Amino acid sequence: MDNGKLIRMCIVCKKRDKQYYLNRLQCIDNELTYFTGKGRSFYVCNDCIKSKKLINFLSKKCKKSKEDIKNLIIHFPFSISY
Ligand SMILES: [Zn+2]
Repeated sequence: MDNGKLIRMCIVCKKRDKQYYLNRLQCIDNELTYFTGKGRSFYVCNDCIKSKKLINFLSKKCKKSKEDIKNLIIHFPFSISY
């Protein structure tokens, strides 16, 4: 089976889409990173990756304050427009 055709759900808006349209992220030791191939991960669609709701979600998911998450995202290869 072609993995690219798997349907996954965006954890922010709950939209379902093909896996390769979604960004697979994870929190390792309270740091945000792209999926490394092991551990727990989650999917975020391209709309939500730029939304403020992602900050709320990541704050819970990575157990960090919203300020910390904003700082993490500044250094991440995508940007969130406030
Ligand atoms: Zn989404």
